[in-house]
Amino acid sequence: MEAGEEVAMLKAVTISIDRDRCKGCELCVSFCPTGVLALSDRDFNASGYRPAVVLRPDACTGCAHCARMCPEAAISIAVLRPATAMAR
Ligand code: SF4
Ligand code: SF4
Repeated sequence: MEAGEEVAMLKAVTISIDRDRCKGCELCVSFCPTGVLALSDRDFNASGYRPAVVLRPDACTGCAHCARMCPEAAISIAVLRPATAMAR
């Protein structure tokens, strides 16, 4: 790193979906701008719905549109923003 150069580390995003709270409405899938989410094509949750799953975690920006749209409050987004480093 050169003197005076600022380096911002990439943020880390954690997506948590409570699969048994999910009703499979697909709103989160529709509102995700980067195609991170999908409904499971493999299994059903305890209520018999296909739950939302994370398909492309690397594409998540942490915008939390999915969490805000979910009528069941089944999604939580945590964004870790490491401190910015500055060379002296
Ligand atoms: S936080 Fe944004 S980018 Fe990430 S899954 Fe939700 S809607 Fe998609
Ligand atoms: S918006 Fe909520 S209830 Fe609807 S599919 Fe997504 S996680 Fe499930």
